[in-house]
Amino acid sequence: MTEHAVVIVGAGPTGLMLAGELALANIDVAIVERRTSQDLIGRRAGGLHARTIEVLDQRGIAERFLDAGTVGQIVGFAWFRLDMSDLPTRHNYGLALPQQQIERILADWVDELAVPIYRGREVLSFTQDASGVDVELSDGSSLRAAYLVGCDGGRSRIRKAAGIEFPGWDATISHIIAEVEVVEEPAWGLHRDAHGIHAFNRLPEDGLVGMLVTEQQLDHAGEPTLSDLSAALTAVFGTDYGVHSPTWISRFTDMARQAAAYRQGRVLLAGDAAHVHYPTGGQGLNTGVQDAVNLGWKLAQVVKQTAPASLLDTYHSERHPVAATVLRNTLAQVALLRTDDRTNALREITAELLGMDEPRQRIAALISALDVHYDLGAGHPLLGRRMPDLDVDTAHGPLRVYTMLHSARPLLLNFGAPGSLEIGPWAERVQLLDAEYAGPWELPLIGAVEPPVAVLVRPDGHVAWVGDQAQQGLPAALTTWFGAPHAA
Ligand SMILES: Cc1cc2nc3c(=O)[nH]c(=O)nc-3n(C[C@H](O)[C@H](O)[C@H](O)COP(=O)(O)OP(=O)(O)OC[C@H]3O[C@@H](n4cnc5c(N)ncnc54)[C@H](O)[C@@H]3O)c2cc1C
Repeated sequence: MTEHAVVIVGAGPTGLMLAGELALANIDVAIVERRTSQDLIGRRAGGLHARTIEVLDQRGIAERFLDAGTVGQIVGFAWFRLDMSDLPTRHNYGLALPQQQIERILADWVDELAVPIYRGREVLSFTQDASGVDVELSDGSSLRAAYLVGCDGGRSRIRKAAGIEFPGWDATISHIIAEVEVVEEPAWGLHRDAHGIHAFNRLPEDGLVGMLVTEQQLDHAGEPTLSDLSAALTAVFGTDYGVHSPTWISRFTDMARQAAAYRQGRVLLAGDAAHVHYPTGGQGLNTGVQDAVNLGWKLAQVVKQTAPASLLDTYHSERHPVAATVLRNTLAQVALLRTDDRTNALREITAELLGMDEPRQRIAALISALDVHYDLGAGHPLLGRRMPDLDVDTAHGPLRVYTMLHSARPLLLNFGAPGSLEIGPWAERVQLLDAEYAGPWELPLIGAVEPPVAVLVRPDGHVAWVGDQAQQGLPAALTTWFGAPHAA
């Protein structure tokens, strides 16, 4: 039986990102993916939000995505466009880039990191024992791993087999989404009418028509057909525009559910396997990539036995509330997209509010995940928040903080007297650098904060400890996040 330290199920955006994170930490990781290639049929995510661009920047691969897509003020909330150019981040915008390309770039990166992908094979089942997990594949072979991570999408077999509950809200609306040819041109653009929301656009690559139509009944199940699309169009527009020759037809709803637990022993969930919701706001892929970046370095340390398995519980305690917030904001967006007179009145008031700076910035930071704050206790406002990408001066010359995270290793930046910090037994695990920075420390929504004397930055870019002149609590923080001083 082939063995790996970690087996990931699913080479979607979440599984690929997690594989990259583990490979950077020199963990023997493999992915099992039922698709035979990275090709994606149809359309899903349309881009990346600011915090995702930042985490890719932390790994030195943001440029690959920025070069392939189009930067712009694309953050939206219930179809209200929110300018975020005044938020304090190097990437104060979103990136329009189809999921197909996002996956391709991530897959190339994972390939460079030499992660094996078992393609064209499905994970059928698994059994876990005290020391590992046996994973049964559809080709009759099996794998053994210390940990198994289900990044296998909203219908996750791993989640179901682990018996993890998936509570939430049933669908209230259903859309058919398709790429087709038409005889008669529809009115291009987004439409909100008494039947719901709909959209038509000409696809630049192949001249096909991309369409989204709200179904008038909710009781459909399974994959839709061309005649379902035709019926849905006719019910709304009185014509089906002569739709024919579909290359892709699918259905999605506003069902919102979240895994009750992100970990069960040696099995973990990330991405859509852990949370599904309505796509408005474009947060699903982004949340999955950020789950992966939270989990990767923790799992790597547990596998290397430098940290106890209980570190993995912080993955649930930090990421579950983030996705719960995403579900909540998508429920609100669905309500605001309804098309009755009362909702229209509510939209007018919402538009007024979002025209004001503070509400606009709050919602833009929420959708772009720049506001994520892990609860690491009371203290300096930086604690638990993302480290800003400052330009600091060091003995090696000027450096951007995010370039120091490329290796996915923790970073202790000392802005106090050079040489005043000592980390003895952690020196092999944590990078320690004396730095100078005279500019402002600004956080999204918080504004300017007191410059710290030192900061301990986790590999995911979140601040784990903030030092003042007394430097109290550093050994405890190092132990909590990077293991006991003399761990293996
Ligand atoms: C219409 C639509 C629009 C969207 N727009 C956006 C957007 O603008 N922005 C955004 O951030 N998100 C958007 N999303 C959501 C986004 O597509 C998902 O959140 C994202 O794909 C989740 O990534 P993932 O890797 O977690 O799961 P998936 O992308 O679902 O990947 C799961 C992978 O696991 C594989 N797999 C499943 N089961 C098995 C098995 N048993 N064995 C082996 N392999 C298996 C699958 O083949 C797949 O490759 C949209 C979704 C839809 C439907």
